[in-house]
Amino acid sequence: MIKIPCTSKIDIMSASNAPAARCKDGDTVIFETMDCYDGAVSRDGIRDWEGKVCGKYMANPATGPLYVEGAEPGDALGVEILSIKTRGWGAMGTGFGEHGFKNYEGEYVMRAFEFEDGFVKIGGKKIAIEPMIGVIGVAPAGDGIPTVTPDSHGGNMDCNKIVEGSTILFPVAAEGGLLAMGDLHALMGDGEVFEYGLETSGEVTVRVKVIKKAELRQPTLAEADEKGRVMTIASALTYEDAIRLALEAMYELLLAKGWDKTEAGMLMSMKCDLAICQIVDPQVTVRAMMDKEFFE
Ligand code: CA
Ligand code: ZN
Repeated sequence: MIKIPCTSKIDIMSASNAPAARCKDGDTVIFETMDCYDGAVSRDGIRDWEGKVCGKYMANPATGPLYVEGAEPGDALGVEILSIKTRGWGAMGTGFGEHGFKNYEGEYVMRAFEFEDGFVKIGGKKIAIEPMIGVIGVAPAGDGIPTVTPDSHGGNMDCNKIVEGSTILFPVAAEGGLLAMGDLHALMGDGEVFEYGLETSGEVTVRVKVIKKAELRQPTLAEADEKGRVMTIASALTYEDAIRLALEAMYELLLAKGWDKTEAGMLMSMKCDLAICQIVDPQVTVRAMMDKEFFE
């Protein structure tokens, strides 16, 4: 089986990146990922800031890219997440003074959390971990995009529905798609409200599938959560634009399935849910969600 080591990492998703590995349509591939700190935080929660200043570490690195034979611009690349295995601990910083916490001052703290039998402890509470992928995407059209930024190619979407068992589709813009991923979170609520997920690293096993001429607008979860819902994910500088892009992508999927344009809109008002993925990255990310029965 193809395995891409965590040393094959990028901090820009770009059509000009040299592939770290190549595979065929339908292959299973393992991505060994770094955490979002690129290893700068140790298991006792100490962060090597010097290294960051000196540029020793990448910001939010992604492992890859993987060249999938047969994936061409206009196609979609389907990525079925077969498993996410994290290491035994995560680390989280603080978000005082930022975004939702801009009216609060506090010391910047980095703290490591051990995972014990799939749980973390905080404030006397035990919480089950739910590993997800923060950064996953393909090369965008045009200029490269840093792995800290989410956009229509994917990237740092920080969507907590991108988990084991889900399948995500990306609009292919470059030959081979150039799939890359990293920034695993052991836990993260919708919004990633205090700046960080419970950041960790690990191994992600995926099966890739090329869907020819898919005309996809945004990253789309084809099979997500226990209900197998369809979710369109969109990122923009403003919430208003991100919401509109997610809704447009969902609407276009319904129209492509043959729905009448009036009924598709009405159905969305009846059954489409909006949710926030994250509010802390260089663009905000939202998702629109609908039951899969409407696409069958
Ligand atoms: Ca992230
Ligand atoms: Zn992260």
